[in-house]
Amino acid sequence: MILVTGGAGYIGSHCAMALIEKGYDVIVFDNLSTGHLKTLETLKNIARSNNFNFLKGDLLNTENLNKAFSSGNIEAVIHFAAFSQVGESVKDPAKYYRNNICGTLNLLDAMRKYNVDKIVFSSTAATYGEPVRIPIDETHPQNPINPYGFSKLAIEKIMDDFDRAYNIKSVRLRYFNVAGADSKSRLGEWHEPETHLIPNILKSTFANSKTFQMFGTDYDTKDGTCVRDYINIEDLVQAHLLSLEYLKKGGKTDFFNLGTKTGNTVKEVFTLCEKVTAKDISVETKPRREGDPAQLVADNTKAKQILGWRPEKTLEDSIKSAFQWEKKLQAQINS
Ligand code: UDP
Repeated sequence: MILVTGGAGYIGSHCAMALIEKGYDVIVFDNLSTGHLKTLETLKNIARSNNFNFLKGDLLNTENLNKAFSSGNIEAVIHFAAFSQVGESVKDPAKYYRNNICGTLNLLDAMRKYNVDKIVFSSTAATYGEPVRIPIDETHPQNPINPYGFSKLAIEKIMDDFDRAYNIKSVRLRYFNVAGADSKSRLGEWHEPETHLIPNILKSTFANSKTFQMFGTDYDTKDGTCVRDYINIEDLVQAHLLSLEYLKKGGKTDFFNLGTKTGNTVKEVFTLCEKVTAKDISVETKPRREGDPAQLVADNTKAKQILGWRPEKTLEDSIKSAFQWEKKLQAQINS
């Protein structure tokens, strides 16, 4: 059985779905602070053979964790549960350090107690901070510039120590910009409030929505807007399945970038959204958003070599699936 923390959230739910479809027994552990019950209903419907369970619980509550770990024979954990908004982490670092770091420490302690020795962890490119070279490989210095990035880096360090001392093996996946939705539109990105680029552009095309705001057009990039590496959610999830298999085969603790090695500017993404939606989208130009580095592009060679991972989908694929999902979400909101 695989324990998926944060399985009611965007990335966690797509991963839980892929695990269920692969025939794994899955238990989702989520406090529903940002995840959705509706997402869990979808997972339940997909898991027709009863290989899915949900436990509402909080990582800060050790009793909740004991319940999760004693509920079945857990062989590995995939850990997504975390707060993940950079801006909020600057305003309320205590919330981020407590939830992300203390919560993970409780999880790791529960793993020790119940003899579970494999964990795949959702880390982030934000652990690198302001890049000193592009593309960013895994040897790039890790100097996060906000509490969110610090909280994820602290967890990576804790995981190294837990390997050395207690033999808990971890794979840390450093995500670049995750985009898109399930290609059958069963799940997708659903944040409240939404802060990410692609859903915000797409949302602005629906009635009564906010005009899309483009943050910063004076960066030192080819068109003045920030460059990011957009990795498709389904490709990203595949890397989690490969990481799990890697650990099951006795793989050592390691960490990998998940990105495409291709950068796209905000303006390029915007133009592609206009093409996919076949709409002229209104845009309001705004000053730079605090804490946004000009460029973030992954060198993904290591994940390809060691995990045998190959991202297959294009940015256009991600925008198409995100748009299909957004239409469904809007219909749901308006019904
Ligand atoms: N961005 C934007 N408008 C938005 C949301 C994002 O112009 O409504 C820009 C943001 O400033 C950054 C890029 O899009 O340059 C990607 O931002 P996002 O929040 O999607 O991901 P991040 O790179 O911060 O993880």
